[in-house]
Amino acid sequence: MITAVGAEVTRHAVGQRAGVGCLVNSCRECKKCRAGMEQYCTTGNTLTYAGVDRDGTITQGGYATHIVVDQDFVLRVPQAIAYEAVAPLLCAGITTYSPLKHWNAGPGTRVAVIGMGGLGHLAPGRIHPRRQLEAQRPDRPGIPG
Ligand SMILES: [Zn+2]
Repeated sequence: MITAVGAEVTRHAVGQRAGVGCLVNSCRECKKCRAGMEQYCTTGNTLTYAGVDRDGTITQGGYATHIVVDQDFVLRVPQAIAYEAVAPLLCAGITTYSPLKHWNAGPGTRVAVIGMGGLGHLAPGRIHPRRQLEAQRPDRPGIPG
């Protein structure tokens, strides 16, 4: 929940539900940042947890009652979605969603997911709502993972 905003904040307001992912800053000037791919910032992004921010401070993560973040790295959370359901999407979810979006994977696309149980556990939901995914264990071809 947003409890305060700075004078220059235009996209968020006090009282809105919000979430912060694993990035809290980037240069915003390089080609990758201008393309909306701050995770690939050529000068280095700032991670939410123990990252070195542009001013040299160390980020303190999100396990706190409050976090101060630039509006560019704040996502709105709809009322219909519980915070506990959103939390995994802000890190593992976007990590698996980003390459699928980049490569235009959708229904009918065959996708291999390596690492089911970690980040890959969230991939089937990003690929297709019904989780129609052929996940195979490399050590046992043909056996769903
Ligand atoms: Zn950048």
